[in-house]
Amino acid sequence: MNYQKIIDELYKEIIDQENLGNVASYIPELAKVDPHKFGICLSTIDNEQMSIGDADEKFSIQSIAKVFALSLAYKNADGELWERVGVEPSGTPFNSLVQLESDLGIPRNPFINAGAIVICDILQSQLKDPKTELLDFIRMVSNNPTIDYSSSIAESEKSQGFRNIALINFIKSFGNIKNEINDVLDLYFNLCSIKMSCKELSSSFLYLANHGVEPISNNKILNGSQTKRINAIMQTCGFYDEAGEFAFKVGLPGKSGVGGGIIAIYPNNYCIAVWSPKLNSKGNSYRGMNFLEIFTTKTKLSIF
Ligand code: GLN
Repeated sequence: MNYQKIIDELYKEIIDQENLGNVASYIPELAKVDPHKFGICLSTIDNEQMSIGDADEKFSIQSIAKVFALSLAYKNADGELWERVGVEPSGTPFNSLVQLESDLGIPRNPFINAGAIVICDILQSQLKDPKTELLDFIRMVSNNPTIDYSSSIAESEKSQGFRNIALINFIKSFGNIKNEINDVLDLYFNLCSIKMSCKELSSSFLYLANHGVEPISNNKILNGSQTKRINAIMQTCGFYDEAGEFAFKVGLPGKSGVGGGIIAIYPNNYCIAVWSPKLNSKGNSYRGMNFLEIFTTKTKLSIF
């Protein structure tokens, strides 16, 4: 399969089309990004990499980082994890509060904000120095010691993070947050602030395409069952109230972020990362969704 040729053709096709949607502005720092950035990188488990456009430029990966946090918490888990966060699609926006009251403070899944905040609370309990150890883990799976938090993005989100502050307080009222609210929020906002390029992202998530083993270093990040389950949650919950649409159109497990990034996994084969900052009404990259739909259609490769 000549992935590079297909990527090049689709890039040219999409860049000529109208770029719809809006850049996320509720985090002031994200509103500064050039809306016409467009990068793509596909990395294979055989250590090949194909890219085009702004694939080397770092951007705020936002909720894509929730996959790293879940991977680390699951790796360390003592069994309580799935009692504190569910594995069902929410069918609601990423920052919704509505189901939490009837669900007694147990978020539907680890990828909506409520769930990722509970995962950060679990990490806060599991780790001695959560901020450093979480970053070390991400650097280890990425094979890249330069990956870092962005303090300007974290502070920017903190200054406007009213919904996440509401979510964590509400969850704590049900007893599902065990640590200090400010410590957990600090970890969550820093997690979301991480900046990476499409090239870095697509190689960092290869462990999810390779039964939990990072193919370059051969490090075992997760076991096969944990990997299968994280892919399953990405497939059913990775795009919030557009998860069905992503499965329908793209047919791969994936995860989006409001910075305009998307990663998708084709098990036993590749991880692809796409970045285009303009978002559709569900908070997912307009061009990213578009590209991946046509890409999996043209390659005829999906998990279905
Ligand atoms: N940091 C963002 C938030 O909490 C993450 C949202 C996202 O990328 N969908 O609102």
